[in-house]
Amino acid sequence: MDSAGARDACVIIGGGLAGLTAALSLAPKPAILLSKAPLGLEAASTLAQGGIAASLGPGDDLELHLADTLKAGDGLCDEEVARAILGSAPAAIEDLIKRGVAFDRDTKGALALGLEAAHSRRRILHAGGDSSGREIMRALTRLVRQTPSITVLEGATAEQLLIDGNCVTGVFAASNRGPMLFETACVVIATGGIGGLFQYSTNPAGSFGQGLALAAKAGALLADLEFIQFHPTALDGASFPLKLVSESVRGEGAILANETGERFMADVPGGELAPRDIVARAVWQQMAAGHRVFLDARNILGLDFPRRFPAIAGFCQAEGIDPVTQPIPVRPAVHYHMGGIAVDLAGRSSVEGLWACGEAACTGLHGANRLASNSLLEAAVCGQFVAESIKGTTRSVRRKGVRCDTNTTPSSDPVPVQKILSHAAGVLRNREILQAAAAELLPVALGRGKARDPALVGLMIVIAALRRQESRGAHTRTDFPCPAAHAERSFLRLDAAIAAARAIALETAA
Ligand SMILES: Cc1cc2nc3c(=O)[nH]c(=O)nc-3n(C[C@H](O)[C@H](O)[C@H](O)COP(=O)(O)OP(=O)(O)OC[C@H]3O[C@@H](n4cnc5c(N)ncnc54)[C@H](O)[C@@H]3O)c2cc1C
Repeated sequence: MDSAGARDACVIIGGGLAGLTAALSLAPKPAILLSKAPLGLEAASTLAQGGIAASLGPGDDLELHLADTLKAGDGLCDEEVARAILGSAPAAIEDLIKRGVAFDRDTKGALALGLEAAHSRRRILHAGGDSSGREIMRALTRLVRQTPSITVLEGATAEQLLIDGNCVTGVFAASNRGPMLFETACVVIATGGIGGLFQYSTNPAGSFGQGLALAAKAGALLADLEFIQFHPTALDGASFPLKLVSESVRGEGAILANETGERFMADVPGGELAPRDIVARAVWQQMAAGHRVFLDARNILGLDFPRRFPAIAGFCQAEGIDPVTQPIPVRPAVHYHMGGIAVDLAGRSSVEGLWACGEAACTGLHGANRLASNSLLEAAVCGQFVAESIKGTTRSVRRKGVRCDTNTTPSSDPVPVQKILSHAAGVLRNREILQAAAAELLPVALGRGKARDPALVGLMIVIAALRRQESRGAHTRTDFPCPAAHAERSFLRLDAAIAAARAIALETAA
């Protein structure tokens, strides 16, 4: 095994927007960036279409953006955190522009602002039309490669954190150059989302919560795991990940209808632009009743679809659908995880020396449901916050008693978990199916097979979903259909999840 540690370097796991921002903001402090795939590939950041939210337009301000965020979060946002992150949006946009991101502009040269679901103002900055993430990642990847303080290791997958007491002392990674061990007192997890744990998802297949497993196994506290946002309008085609037909298409006026032409969102407040969980449930219920669902953008006055949405037009064409003349078949798919590694505003987890940012982290910004386009913003802002926090910290590696399970499985396979989790933790949940999933996942999570880490994360999600005996935001329990009078954020450690699952398994067997 190589000991690849530059001991004063910070190790950043994941090269999406959050990881790249953290690395750039840390400079000139040295950082080693581990990325499973070549930078830009296999990152949800690259797939983002709609854009990034910031209250920059006329008639808009922080209070309005905050109000929309809190409303979407359905009573569980941390208001102080939300105010700090949303208030940092203008500076984050400025930084992205300085780093070379070319946001779209109107004919007068001002930043063009789009509208998305549940935003009360036009505040979505986009780039390359609907290729916002690609453009942001293009600029940042280029800059990262030119920054001497950043060592990029592509093809390196973090498998385990080294822990001494409650302190991080290193990272063990599998790589195409063989196993690698990094001694470091400072690790940032920026591994993105969990969609790859499910059968239908818009996330890259490699996004299956490896960072959550790393943190959970190190004893870190995880938060709000039960809150998973389903995008209501993924293209119901043959590709995986499912292609996303962005909210912006509905923002421009596209309508949802089933195969009989019934516009089933017509009487729902907000219509097609109601919060995502409401739209996802409506589409799910249509499909459960045997209907097919379509997004119809054919009759939008003045919309040049291929010009405004070139990427969407392209992948629709690849599936044989022309959105100018045909309705687009859609279905709900796992899109975003509000939960993650519990962190404070500086990105610090409950384990000393372990920070997290981006989708893998849970700051409390999103509460029970994410407001569209707040996640790229959170990745950009919190990547910066994490770097500032690390710069203000002096930690050194303690050598004694380092715990490293080098029998760790060389690669993870989420496939055995996908069916169980999709059935139990989908758009609609109940006690019976969640308990059955916990009993089924437990032996996999305790085993030594390749599905162990995905099963650990799946198990924690299922236990969190069981414990929340109410329906709120993106979490819908058919056996508890109403929101509780009083609700709080949820926090969970791996040992508590395993103990709960053992009790369920015993109860089920009895
Ligand atoms: C199709 C789609 C469209 C979206 N559109 C928008 C939008 O318009 N606006 C918006 O705000 N949000 C959008 N989102 C959500 C947003 O893109 C993500 O929340 C955000 O980009 C997450 O950034 P990240 O840096 O945390 O993770 P990612 O960009 O997913 O990057 C994580 C990286 O970590 C790597 N990684 C994972 N595990 C390991 C490991 N063990 N070792 C090494 N590397 C690892 C992955 O390969 C990946 O490269 C969209 C998401 C999707 C899927």
